Amino acid sequence: MEDKKIICPVCGHDVIKSGRLNPPAYVVEMNSIVNLKRSEVHVTFCAKCGEIISMKVAEPYKF
Ligand SMILES: [Zn+2]
Repeated sequence: MEDKKIICPVCGHDVIKSGRLNPPAYVVEMNSIVNLKRSEVHVTFCAKCGEIISMKVAEPYKF
């Protein structure tokens, strides 16, 4: 999903990569006990200094 050019706000590098938090690092409902509603979290980060540009709930429609 390579789209518009993103520049790292910390070091100015323009190579941005993406990954995900390694499950079970899910986002779940605030007061959930059984965690039926959960989603992975995807992150985009600067390939040079590691600054996280954004974190995104991968499946927001589940909530
Ligand atoms: Zn950077």
